[in-house]
Amino acid sequence: MTANKKLLMLPGDGIGPEVMAVVARVIEWFGKRRQISFDVEEGLIGGASYDAHGTPLSDGTLEQAMAADAVLLGAVGGPKWDDLEFSLKPERGLLKIRKEMGLFANLRPAVVFPALAEASTLKTEIVSGLDIMIVRELTGGIYFGEPRGIEDLGNGERRGFNTLVYTTSEIRRVGRVAFELAQKRDRRLCSVDKANVMESTVLWREEMIKLGAEEYPDVELSHLYVDNAAMQLVRDPKQFDVMVTTNMFGDILSDCAAMLTGSLGMLPSASLGAEKDGRIPALYEPVHGSAPDIAGKDMANPLATLSSFSMMLRYSFDLQAEADLVDQAVTNILAGGMRTADIMQPGKAKVSTSVLSDAIIGELDKLSA
Ligand code: NAD
Repeated sequence: MTANKKLLMLPGDGIGPEVMAVVARVIEWFGKRRQISFDVEEGLIGGASYDAHGTPLSDGTLEQAMAADAVLLGAVGGPKWDDLEFSLKPERGLLKIRKEMGLFANLRPAVVFPALAEASTLKTEIVSGLDIMIVRELTGGIYFGEPRGIEDLGNGERRGFNTLVYTTSEIRRVGRVAFELAQKRDRRLCSVDKANVMESTVLWREEMIKLGAEEYPDVELSHLYVDNAAMQLVRDPKQFDVMVTTNMFGDILSDCAAMLTGSLGMLPSASLGAEKDGRIPALYEPVHGSAPDIAGKDMANPLATLSSFSMMLRYSFDLQAEADLVDQAVTNILAGGMRTADIMQPGKAKVSTSVLSDAIIGELDKLSA
């Protein structure tokens, strides 16, 4: 018998606990119906942690995260904590846990369920059936490069500056994550840079080419300048399989790709670190925030968090059939016409978080009957 996988759940603030409760029910279902159990621990992060411990991320929670096989996070933040000083704000907890876990690769899938294709601002035929994965470098590049700052030039002028810097190993480690994902999908990887004007991304492109030739000859590698990539993403997004890019370009392109799908409540993400002692640190979380405007009203869409859990099953626990089962349940529920308010469409049935949660369990029962 192999030991159960250790899963740390950090519900956080606002709708975080509500959407996480849906995942907790699915975990319970797996234990009862599929004999798959996890050692689940729960911890505090964000405003909830500040209220209990005076800090948005305590050492204890960080230790729990480091000891877990994977972490599932809800969302942090809310007006209650808006006036705290910068270092105590809930969002600092999130930045700190990502940094301490060394999560350098951020995976953002953009999948358009056929039943929701009409919710996109783009034409249905452009996005229906879309399934792309954007891999963003998360701990380097211009958001962290030194020197940085704002200096007074003494003549009434000020100068603001940041540095875009990447090393070979930073490029290759995120490249490997992207190539390996492509190997599990359609074996196509598009690397996005600005090699026509920036030396740091000339290096990016050169290293991607070398890495592909040396270790992943089975993956078709292409390159786009970021301006063209943005254009292609809205012109014909289905041309892509996996995309890999720098921190800032990924920040922008992944939000652009997110909008192809039409709703924040549907978008999962994963962030991965470097393998150590046979384990890859991993944090899974929905892309949306804590939605204080609907918190506590049983209105939140739990599907982004549920899909984040499905990514966890797939990438951290290698439970492909179980991940497929969760994804299929989500697809069927949407095809059946149930919608939370955020993705409501004419002629569909508007339901609460708890009704949707019951329906998901019912669908899992049906699928595994
Ligand atoms: P938000 O994502 O919380 O909400 C934006 C809008 O989308 C709101 O109208 C909200 O009701 C709706 N929405 C978001 N998720 C939804 C869901 N699952 N179901 C239904 N509707 C949903 O962004 P915001 O309003 O800019 O930020 C609110 C708080 O969340 C802030 O404190 C912000 O700092 C924080 N935040 C946290 C994260 C995170 O934890 N990763 C990310 C973004 C924002």
